[in-house]
Amino acid sequence: MGRLDGKVAIITGGARGQGEAEVRLFAAEGAKVLFGDVLHDQGEAVAADVGSSVHYVPLDVTDPGAWEAAVAETVSRFGAPDVLVNNAGVLQFGVSLVDTTLDDYMRVVNINQVGPFLGMKYTVPAMIDAGKGGSIVNISSTNGLAGFGGTMAYTASKFAVRGMTKTAALELGRHGIRVNSIHPGGVDTAMTSLDALGGTMTEEAQQAAYAMIPLGRVAQPQEIARLALYLASDESSYSTGSEFVADGGMLAGAVNPDI
Ligand code: NAD
Repeated sequence: MGRLDGKVAIITGGARGQGEAEVRLFAAEGAKVLFGDVLHDQGEAVAADVGSSVHYVPLDVTDPGAWEAAVAETVSRFGAPDVLVNNAGVLQFGVSLVDTTLDDYMRVVNINQVGPFLGMKYTVPAMIDAGKGGSIVNISSTNGLAGFGGTMAYTASKFAVRGMTKTAALELGRHGIRVNSIHPGGVDTAMTSLDALGGTMTEEAQQAAYAMIPLGRVAQPQEIARLALYLASDESSYSTGSEFVADGGMLAGAVNPDI
């Protein structure tokens, strides 16, 4: 028996990284999954590899029309959604407050903050109509719980995701729809590769930063996907409006390397 047997899920940013891990894990646990991204070739390849229990659609999370189409496609192909994972996101790293341009700020906020807002706005009516309850999982970050120098736009967007999660949970509890946020620390995906960080960090500096994490390493995407699976499933039936941290102990405090 799968932990998501009979459930229908929508996952954003599913072409790679944590989203891809969630698509694969949710399908393996019995869910039907419609997932979207802006990386169409990679998304189609993941869908072909997993099989008919998943379906890829182009879904730019900032586009209300694409959201309407994705929810309609989910309902007609698999049935009403039980689960929404707002996972898609972008990072801007190593840019000071003063050097952050308004264009960059708005681009990050549009994808990371407006995206999950639109996702909930367009998916929730289908959940309510179906009357089965549901679970919404919003991927925030440790940057949604604490600041980090050089990530002004990203931190703003991830704090917003955490706040929206709580307001949505308050409004949707009466419909049996739970809404929680996940706060990963560092995760080994394309987002945190040295290439993606665009020369703002050396390999030595990255290794030194990882060494300061109590567990001494970053997470693999599957480790975050397993937390998303728990929140998507009925195993988390009494959790809503809450923050679920998976950060290797990063926010617990500062490691003393001598002790
Ligand atoms: P990733 O870059 O591998 O995956 C992000 C995915 O989102 C990509 O497939 C990308 O194409 C997609 N995406 C970007 N813009 C989009 C848009 N407008 N519409 C639809 N899809 C879009 O990185 P990841 O680590 O898998 O990130 C997943 C989530 O986890 C993000 O929300 C990220 O902010 C969050 N997160 C990541 C880390 C980390 O260290 N990697 C830490 C904390 C939180």
